[in-house]
Amino acid sequence: MLKRVRSSLTRTVLFAFIGVTSAQNQPSAAISGFTPAGAAAEAKLESQLKSAISTDRIGQYHRYFTSVPHPAGTKADYEVAHYIAEEWKKQGLEGVAIRQYDVLGTRQVSTSLEMVAPKKYTAVLREQPYDIDPDTKNPEVSSAWIGFSSSGEVTAPVVYAHSGNPEDYQLLRQQGIDVKGKIVLVRYSNPYSYRGFKALTAQRMGVAALLIYSDPAEDGYKKGKVFPEGPWGPESHIQRGAITYDFMVPGDPLTPGWASLPGAKRIPETEAVSLPHIIALPLSWHDAKPLLENMDGPVAPTDWQGGLPITYRLGGSVVAHLKVEMDNSTQPYYVVEARIKGSEYPDEWVLLGNHHDAWVYGGVDPSSGTASMMEMTRAFGAMLKQGIRPRRTIVFGSWDGEEIGLTGSTEWGEQFSDELRTKLVAYLNVDSSASGPDFQGGASGSLAPMLVETTRSIEDPGGGTLHDAWLKSTAVEREEEHNPQPVSDANVVNTRIGSGSDHTVFLNFLGRPVITLEFDGPYGVYHSMYDDYYWMSNFGDPGYKYHATMSQLWGVTALRLAQADVLPLDFQFYGEIVGQFLDELAKNQKYDATKLNLAAAHKEAKELETASAQAEALIKPALATGKLSSAQLAAVNQLLMKGEANFVLPEGIPGRPWFKHILYSARYTYAHLELPAITEAVESGNWTEAQRQTEILVNALRAETALMQQVAAAVGAR
Ligand SMILES: [Zn+2]
Repeated sequence: MLKRVRSSLTRTVLFAFIGVTSAQNQPSAAISGFTPAGAAAEAKLESQLKSAISTDRIGQYHRYFTSVPHPAGTKADYEVAHYIAEEWKKQGLEGVAIRQYDVLGTRQVSTSLEMVAPKKYTAVLREQPYDIDPDTKNPEVSSAWIGFSSSGEVTAPVVYAHSGNPEDYQLLRQQGIDVKGKIVLVRYSNPYSYRGFKALTAQRMGVAALLIYSDPAEDGYKKGKVFPEGPWGPESHIQRGAITYDFMVPGDPLTPGWASLPGAKRIPETEAVSLPHIIALPLSWHDAKPLLENMDGPVAPTDWQGGLPITYRLGGSVVAHLKVEMDNSTQPYYVVEARIKGSEYPDEWVLLGNHHDAWVYGGVDPSSGTASMMEMTRAFGAMLKQGIRPRRTIVFGSWDGEEIGLTGSTEWGEQFSDELRTKLVAYLNVDSSASGPDFQGGASGSLAPMLVETTRSIEDPGGGTLHDAWLKSTAVEREEEHNPQPVSDANVVNTRIGSGSDHTVFLNFLGRPVITLEFDGPYGVYHSMYDDYYWMSNFGDPGYKYHATMSQLWGVTALRLAQADVLPLDFQFYGEIVGQFLDELAKNQKYDATKLNLAAAHKEAKELETASAQAEALIKPALATGKLSSAQLAAVNQLLMKGEANFVLPEGIPGRPWFKHILYSARYTYAHLELPAITEAVESGNWTEAQRQTEILVNALRAETALMQQVAAAVGAR
């Protein structure tokens, strides 16, 4: 999972412009998409679901999931999958199955690093145990390694390259420093970029090997108290992770676009664009410090200086010897699925998912999400045992190998692509559920308003509704980031969805609406051994209250989508969001209004807003008076479900055919990238392509407007 980089300022500021209303603990009478009778029944079901959630049981689940290290492809990870399947059967879920995908995997055989000049130093590559936390003494914990590092051995000078982004290498070049054949040492953040992008950049520069370390300025003592006294990373913590080029194509590198089932075609490794070709190793700052403090080259620029009490230099006479041996062979990954078959619309699916593989224990990532999920599925199972079956089918997925290349969810999505394209109402992803109290909700455009509305019906453990708490914490965050935009319902949801977790296949490959949910806070032990049970029960979420809030929110959101009379997909809001994307594109430094006119696209986005508003103006009163026949409701929902598909381009965006959504994609850094094809054409100065892609967008928006007119006609026709 992508790690958000947070500010560490204390959150004491309160904002006058947020009108904090009294906690609306009683569900409001109206729920978008429901008749009054339907809303009353829904509110009852939601109360039942919410009251079934127990923090104690979540704590027990969490203790189980964090009991042993369980990276993808290990026996321990398979046992976790098996446990989830058995538990789901006991809970009463239907269609429980384990799907096996034989994918190109990655495992550590051995790693070693020594400084050979100007002094001898042998890197520890291990995390220090602490008496207070017995899990830190488990001999099963791996040493430092990077998923999909190449195997190899190199002895070469070491160059410090800041964050390892292209502009950093440009500065080195200007300083006359050649990185070809060298070992390059970079830090994880400042600014953050996905480690796979650092690897690709280094590979393109001809670097022999890449060392990535955690500087205390980003997630260590410069932020606050470190483990085991606080939530930040201690001296020896190691951020493991993969460097797969999954921004090109996620999943098994050898089956791009289809599932890794027995007998499926595999492309040769030489043709696999997502496979890195560089030796890489992560380091704690304990092991990076001797390299950095022995450098005697030019002093690094001010913003390259880090949190260690030394002068950071660009390189010099430090020489290191690095050896990495990997087993990057085919391994079985296991996805667990289960469902509750819908009573009225069994072929309309609401899918909820989380991954089960972890770099070590995965206290936050992903075991917090897995614990929240298991308690939520238990509540759904308990309702089913009482004969309460949702109208639409609810499907649950426990993915594998997310940490390697979003692998399990991608293979599963590819295997069932035909069904999912027509049946999937929405995908609701929870990777980490809680590393603190601050809610972060994301949604593709049409789902954003219903997510905001749902948070009004959930209590925040800090008091008031989750909606109130969300507005407040977002206001504090914007203040810290010097973002002057006032917080409102219309902008509190993150509608700029990048990659970095299991929603990717559903949004970008299949073109289905998605929601992503998380609570976060100060968290400096990501992908290290210290992301464990002790960390969670002492710092992240003592008492599992936010885990429980997540179980409630996730379940209630799913229930609304599964029960709604008219699906709460808001295409008026989506039209507005597309208008914002176009405004932001016009502010891109590379944009030239004389070369690309966005007026037609703006006009069509407005047309979509108008047509959607007209449809909504018919739906709302008809729902309120219960005047729509079941045939009309079924027809309207079938039309609404086609809304996202109009933004799918079958051939994909230029250069990345797997990514088919024309509104959403991700940059190579994992950062969100809206209007990807137009934006990338603009940024490369390819105005013909930019024009062609803008026409594709205009046509998609026209098709969407026509669809909304069909919706209006379906409601109007009695
Ligand atoms: Zn994760």
